[in-house]
Amino acid sequence: AEETLRQAQKMEAVGQLTGGIAHDFNNMLQGISGSLDLMQHRIDQGRAAEAGRLVETARQTVERAAALTHRLLAFARRQTLDPKPVNADAMTRGMEELIRRTVGPGIQVELRLQDGSWAVQCDPNQLENVLLNLAINARDAMPEGGHLTIGTRHARLSATDVAHEEDAKPGDYVEIAVTDTGVGMDEATLARAFEPFFTTKPLGEGTGLGLSQLYGFVRQSHGTVQINSKPGRGTTVRFYLPRHRQDTEEAGETAPAAVPGIR
Ligand code: ADP
Repeated sequence: AEETLRQAQKMEAVGQLTGGIAHDFNNMLQGISGSLDLMQHRIDQGRAAEAGRLVETARQTVERAAALTHRLLAFARRQTLDPKPVNADAMTRGMEELIRRTVGPGIQVELRLQDGSWAVQCDPNQLENVLLNLAINARDAMPEGGHLTIGTRHARLSATDVAHEEDAKPGDYVEIAVTDTGVGMDEATLARAFEPFFTTKPLGEGTGLGLSQLYGFVRQSHGTVQINSKPGRGTTVRFYLPRHRQDTEEAGETAPAAVPGIR
């Protein structure tokens, strides 16, 4: 069955976020404490060389803990947004070349934009970052090549659609969907995908901040987000940004599509 990250599950993941970080930090402190105990033991036994190696182990753990707090602080600082009306279609088109170059020649990039004149209300720099991050995730999920599709459409979200999102209201949204034909996510990965610093990528390759940044961006923009993924088949990340009020009454727009999968 297709793995869908339900809103409730996602909220739970975010609720566990602080706990998760505290847990990691505590593990590091326990590691240091253990090294110190053992060190004392070795010193008592007169085994200085072994004690020296334990000093090194403890020092490395301290560095990892310091790096964690630095990333945490940088993440917290990054959350200031400057929302304004943005044409998501024009922005995506403007990024097409950058996205193609980022994913490389092995991945076909297709834009399915409605080229609507409607604008969304969000921070344009953050939207660019988010799109690029999603393209990078798609690339990483398709080491043998594949297909990346970025689509936009108008969506009308009902009260039920946004029931789990305290900052989002029913109304007109633009849906931005980023789909890849990559490795997909298993249930355990999907459950933690929005968690800051959660990554399945090798050290130095993943920061684990891409999707948590997307989540923070969407929430602060009063929108909503969902991920559909199936191992071996691929992933679709759909996020919804509220239409800018001025454009909402515009005539001649495309009829809103039904939004499947949002409950
Ligand atoms: P990072 O990409 O640095 O690991 P993210 O927060 O963007 O951090 O993603 C967290 C994890 O979610 C990834 O390590 C990966 O396991 C999984 N993931 C994200 N996007 C995709 C995707 N398009 N396909 C498969 N797995 C993904």
